[in-house]
Amino acid sequence: MQPIIDIHVHIMPYHMLKPAVLEMIKNGCKDYYADVERYLAQPKTFLRLLDSLGIERAGLINYVAPEIIGLMPEANDWIAQYCKVAPNRLLAFGGVHPGSVADPGAEVDRIAKLGIRAIKIHPPHQAFSPNDYLNGNRGLAAIYERAQANGLPLMIHTGTSIFPGARNLHAQPMLCDDISVDYPDLVVILAHGGRPLWMDEAFFLVRRHKNMYMDISGIPPQKLMEYFPRLEEIAGKVLWGTDWPGPGVPVIKDNIEKFHRLPIGDEAKRKILYDNAARLFPR
Ligand SMILES: [Zn+2]
Repeated sequence: MQPIIDIHVHIMPYHMLKPAVLEMIKNGCKDYYADVERYLAQPKTFLRLLDSLGIERAGLINYVAPEIIGLMPEANDWIAQYCKVAPNRLLAFGGVHPGSVADPGAEVDRIAKLGIRAIKIHPPHQAFSPNDYLNGNRGLAAIYERAQANGLPLMIHTGTSIFPGARNLHAQPMLCDDISVDYPDLVVILAHGGRPLWMDEAFFLVRRHKNMYMDISGIPPQKLMEYFPRLEEIAGKVLWGTDWPGPGVPVIKDNIEKFHRLPIGDEAKRKILYDNAARLFPR
């Protein structure tokens, strides 16, 4: 059976979330929210879910956005602890918010030592543009510099967010172009491929920059060929992800089945479902 890496799953400390944010997530997965709570409390139960879906590994997305979402720097410690049960299968994504720690560069070094495998930046929820280091945001420059030095991939949310308070001006993929120019060795993953407004920007950037990738999480598989008609051309740079559980994200199993039915070659599917992520996150 084709192994799968789902690089974008929201296992994070839900107890830190602002009430309005948590409410939105709960409404989005009403039918199975009780299960989600069990997965948050018991990583082994979550691993059994992954087993039942044929998912070998999952990227567990955490970031720091105190004002808009409620996630604090301690989210890093929480997810690092969670993933200790099976560090070969659970890939901890952490984050640094330049305004929330005294020394953002040192914080990247600290969380790398904890076992964090990648840094997530969420511009609409952190209220800055991904290239804000060009405007004097030295903390952001330090984050990129230390991520590159530690060999941690950087995932950047692109595309709209409808969470209360999200600032979508910062959600445009093109704002990430500068990063790959200035930090050419940093692996950058554009989460969500700019959906639903800026897919052509994401496609261009992934083709332009050697170390730029995108994930297709949060895109209904039946929309994928409409959003990215030339998906097969960039199959070596695209990572599978679901964004589960979130508003409008159906259960993982349905997504995988729909993806398998798309009119692209088996080799492209294998790269997207597994090979590319396996290469970026060696064991
Ligand atoms: Zn997400």
